[in-house]
Amino acid sequence: MSNIKTRFAPSPTGYMHIGNLRTALYSYLIAKSNGGTFMLRIEDTDQNRFVEGAMDVIYRTLELCGLNYDEGPDKDMGNGPYIQSQRRDIYIKYAKKLVELGHAYYCFCSKERLDGLREELEAKGLPYEYDGHCKNLSPEEIQKKLDAGEPYVIRQIMPKEGVSEYDDAVYGKITIENSTLEEQILLKSDGMPTYNFANVVDDHLMGVTHVVRGNEYITSTPKYNLLYDAFGWERPCYIHLPLITKEGGKKLSKREGDASFEDFYNKGYLKDAIINYVALLGWSPGGEREIYSLKELEEIFSIKGINNSPAVFDMAKFRWMNGEYIKMMAPEDFHKAALPYYEKCLTRKLDLKRISELLQSRVEVLCDIPDYVDFFENVCDYDVSMYVHKKMKTTVESSLEALQNVIPVLESIDDWQEEKIHSALMEHIAQKGVKNGIVLWPLRTALSGKMSTPGGAVEIAYIIGKEETLARVNNAVNFIKASL
Ligand code: GLU
Repeated sequence: MSNIKTRFAPSPTGYMHIGNLRTALYSYLIAKSNGGTFMLRIEDTDQNRFVEGAMDVIYRTLELCGLNYDEGPDKDMGNGPYIQSQRRDIYIKYAKKLVELGHAYYCFCSKERLDGLREELEAKGLPYEYDGHCKNLSPEEIQKKLDAGEPYVIRQIMPKEGVSEYDDAVYGKITIENSTLEEQILLKSDGMPTYNFANVVDDHLMGVTHVVRGNEYITSTPKYNLLYDAFGWERPCYIHLPLITKEGGKKLSKREGDASFEDFYNKGYLKDAIINYVALLGWSPGGEREIYSLKELEEIFSIKGINNSPAVFDMAKFRWMNGEYIKMMAPEDFHKAALPYYEKCLTRKLDLKRISELLQSRVEVLCDIPDYVDFFENVCDYDVSMYVHKKMKTTVESSLEALQNVIPVLESIDDWQEEKIHSALMEHIAQKGVKNGIVLWPLRTALSGKMSTPGGAVEIAYIIGKEETLARVNNAVNFIKASL
């Protein structure tokens, strides 16, 4: 193993946002492509946001996607606990140490005082920033308040002048004016750390060398670097990832069902397709090829290929890619995956295996299956104009005639098998001396009521059975007659 170590550090929100999944994937791939270690840490110090079952979502998703971690809550490699709420004492110890080192201070300001300060600043049109009220308390005053059990937080001391700089592996040199750095809270009054403190303490103590996360942390990273420096710890390498937006720049939204892994998975996007597509949201292997398995990505992923311009989630491309993965499925697997969708709309006794064979190459997303197959159950209302096909040279009149003529042909088929239906129709077409389309187009329309179907007239006739086929053709004849 190389000494590269990455981590995925989600907060348990109850779902896996696509952006988080990409962070997990890139962290995993950076570790794997370098022979390093990938770790999972749960960042649950914000107890107000506790969501029942939220941890399970994280474990389940990582397992399902094959993003197996080498180290984590159920795989202690000596750096545990890996769940932040179980590390309270560690943060308290380091926060106090930071006070001793002169880089942090106790703040006893009440909520009322801070609210007042906020209002005051807002009235002046200024952004809220703590005014350093408690920074100059004497050691005696502090001790007195501590002895009296007054609630406190611990704040980080920030330099007021100059700039802070660091090199981001994706965004290059980042420079921030120190005057913009707020004296943020590191330890809250309940003894829990903020993210701003816990991420640094943990990444250091757990030996993380490469920090991979969303670019919303770019501007607070200088504050984290000041903490590393204050403790005398080595700074990690930072890999901030660009935002993922929809076309037009809008954010992915949970409410619109396009933000979480589960939303897509439940709609019938395959996990391998999701992983493949998400891998390309901000990273490019160079070249034209786009289909990569996780195993292949583990080989070829490189930090250099990560782009810093916003990644656009292109739904059409995602659908296409999912369709490619559906085509690659073993037919039995596709059939198994399709069955629950058939159950939603098909009650007739049909050769579902045959439907699956016809469908597999056409479906892009499994949840579209009912739209493809519902006509096997019932023909919906359609327009007679559908019988008119320029290229096939069919008209409503020619279709009526073709359907009337084909009824006795269909009636005469005893063994209702595809080949038999096919040869009977072909013989009939030859006898009439017409083009295939003159008969087959209206027949398929009569049987399906659709312009495009999995399978043609022969396959559909076979699947719905002789009786239903004849019933539908007779109905169509009456329907066309009534329209003339
Ligand atoms: N818990 C943070 C989040 O879910 C993780 C940020 C990080 O990876 O450092 O946004």
